[in-house]
Amino acid sequence: MHARAPGALAAAAAVAGLLACASTEPGATATEGSGTAGSGTAGSGTTAGTGAGVGTGMSEGSGGSGGTNGSGDDLGAAGGCEITTPEALMACVDLDRYVDDLTFIAAPRTPGSPHWLAVQERCASALEEAGLVVELEGYGSGTNVIGVLPGVGAEADEVVLLGAHYDHIAACDGADDNASGVAGALEVARVLAAAPLRRTLVVACWDQEELGLVGSRAYAQALVDPSAVVVAFNFDMIGYADPAPNTQTFPGPLAARFPGLAAELDAHEHRADFIAVVADDLAEGVALDLEARAEGLGRLTGVMTLSAAEKLDEDAFGLLAQSDHRSFWERDVPALHVFDTGVFRNPAYHCFGGADTVDTLDHAFTFDVLRATVGAVAAAAALDG
Ligand SMILES: [Zn+2]
Repeated sequence: MHARAPGALAAAAAVAGLLACASTEPGATATEGSGTAGSGTAGSGTTAGTGAGVGTGMSEGSGGSGGTNGSGDDLGAAGGCEITTPEALMACVDLDRYVDDLTFIAAPRTPGSPHWLAVQERCASALEEAGLVVELEGYGSGTNVIGVLPGVGAEADEVVLLGAHYDHIAACDGADDNASGVAGALEVARVLAAAPLRRTLVVACWDQEELGLVGSRAYAQALVDPSAVVVAFNFDMIGYADPAPNTQTFPGPLAARFPGLAAELDAHEHRADFIAVVADDLAEGVALDLEARAEGLGRLTGVMTLSAAEKLDEDAFGLLAQSDHRSFWERDVPALHVFDTGVFRNPAYHCFGGADTVDTLDHAFTFDVLRATVGAVAAAAALDG
């Protein structure tokens, strides 16, 4: 276990200062009076390094347990779990922890509803138990949950962000959309919490995405210095896969724009079991790193990169800008969306063609998404040592 240098808290405060966001809910915890942006925390298990140190599987040397996928296959992690390299960290993902959060979250949770609040609290407590500095960021109509893991290096004033929206529509469990993304982000936070990341990691549960990216946009628009955010990852729908041929649709205009991927999907008989990554040109390097890690696990992955002119072109590419990564593109923050292609694959999207429930998901698919993302986030945050 490495302990967080006292300077790291100052770094967190400095970063938070940089990221000064909308006012914070009163009573939210504050970090050692530094008054981090929107508020810091006094949460015990956070900055004191206790939570981070003891809570996570890593320090006890236990490898990430792979658990099982929906069909009971053992998804044991390959090899021991260490914090020395991004690759070793990939083996620390614990699928059982992910499924535990997923199962809790997947129930109707419209903003302001009792389960929305319960999920908000689950985000906050899970991030705090992992050792992050947690704040509830009230931005007027809603509440984001923001966890900050201070960087330990000279780059601590730079931020790598991973976010996922925790709200959903009425009368729909939203297991894929987006309980999978929230549970995934919490597991990535747990794995990385004990890693010596030189840059600061921010893990966020966004509110009101279904109402028009309201929570993430409030956060992004309030950034004082957007250039402090090196890259923003977005998890929205990372749970659904179908290995049967011809289960994946790929709209004509996108196939025309990305002929290489279209050809790959043709060769793959349009099986809906690949990971999709949409990035702007500024985040392409990170996207390609994630792709290489996922394909190293045997999971086909397709990267679609949009230029600066294309990323906010609603008519031509609005289909690829329908989630919280867009809020960061609007501030020219490099951002990527990691997903299962959503409505292009999952018939239960928004419960249109069936119930979006946990039993319809493929945890082996998500296991690969989480492992590849852990590696890519750790690399982007610069692992110390
Ligand atoms: Zn969603």
